[in-house]
Amino acid sequence: MHVPHWIERKRDGGELTAPEIAELIAGFTAGEVPDYQMAALAMAIFFRGMTPAETAALTAAMRDSGRVFQWPAGTPPKVDKHSTGGIGDKVSLVLAPLLACEDFWVPMVSGRGLGITGGTLDKLESIPGFDVQLSEKACLRQIEKIGVFMAGQTRDFCPADKKLYALRDVSGTVPSQALIIASIMSKKLAESLDRLVLDVKFGCGAFMKTRGEAEELARGLAEAGNGNGVRTTALLTPMDEPLGRTVGNALEVVESVETLQNRGPADLVDLTLELCASVTDLPRETFRRHLESGAAWNKFVQLVEAQAGDATALENLAEFHPAPEIVALSAPRDGVIRRIDARAIGLASVLLGAGRMVSADEIDYAVGFSGIRKTGDVVTKGEPLLTIHARDAAGLEMARQAVEKAVEIE
Ligand code: URA
Repeated sequence: MHVPHWIERKRDGGELTAPEIAELIAGFTAGEVPDYQMAALAMAIFFRGMTPAETAALTAAMRDSGRVFQWPAGTPPKVDKHSTGGIGDKVSLVLAPLLACEDFWVPMVSGRGLGITGGTLDKLESIPGFDVQLSEKACLRQIEKIGVFMAGQTRDFCPADKKLYALRDVSGTVPSQALIIASIMSKKLAESLDRLVLDVKFGCGAFMKTRGEAEELARGLAEAGNGNGVRTTALLTPMDEPLGRTVGNALEVVESVETLQNRGPADLVDLTLELCASVTDLPRETFRRHLESGAAWNKFVQLVEAQAGDATALENLAEFHPAPEIVALSAPRDGVIRRIDARAIGLASVLLGAGRMVSADEIDYAVGFSGIRKTGDVVTKGEPLLTIHARDAAGLEMARQAVEKAVEIE
């Protein structure tokens, strides 16, 4: 293995072979390829890109850097969803139990918040006792019993991605299509899925700012999935305003509970049903019925209990995470809401403490926004535009100023 030679080849626009990539990733995982060489290579990939064959080889090598789920023969089809991340995106919390109401297994391995976008694991951990650190054995036991688990990456699940992601995060190499595709799809492939649906977001609150960029990423992700035997479909969805009416961890769980009890906001329900239909080929109505009948809610309660969570807390979660400062911000004049900038709301929620500035930061589950109005809503002066949940007066003031800039009324 002569890593400098591979770095130089990539730097000069050449290609790496699949065996070279496999050797490199195995060496990096084992600690034989130092971080500085891997960071240099990541930068060369950032500038030069990768061919589809190189991206496929990198994805497979990262998948094989750890253990891959092995499912018993004759068990239901395994399905999952991946979102490229948005503001107020709590779809997974509703979709996973919904899918498990049908004859599917949902082995959902999720992540934490990234930048200004929230993470499923952080949201779940706002439920008292909820354990996201399941062993492979526990995952299997639970999925056999109730058809679903929602857990974090274990130490030996795609360890190459864990290391490389941390390195990219501090070396300016996160927004590389090839590296993003390999990172996302290696983890999804390690779930040994039959089917996957991707929610690729574009807009001011998403990684991809334009529909064109999102299309290109969706194509690459789908190629990596389909090329590895996982039937992969993709939806392209806008992320210019927050999804649903809440942003913040416990607040989003409260909204997910309402949605599972068939009292959810239209945009969240619509997107969730569309993703369920896309990954299963079943009509949206099938899943709507599971919301109406209480089956999806019951499945979520089962899931929370199976992962040591206190299900009795779900309907009064705000009492477990009280925010000292809760203030409604009202419309300064009559008019129509033209814009509620998702990026500004996402950034403000991180500054409130709902996300992390550095990886060691602790999450404040109580803070965020609720009752967020929608673009196109007609408002009258003095009517609430949203409610800020803050830890202290300084947070409240910061959020107030951010929201005043984020909301445009015409
Ligand atoms: N999510 C991931 O898991 N990896 C990336 O590179 C980007 C988003």
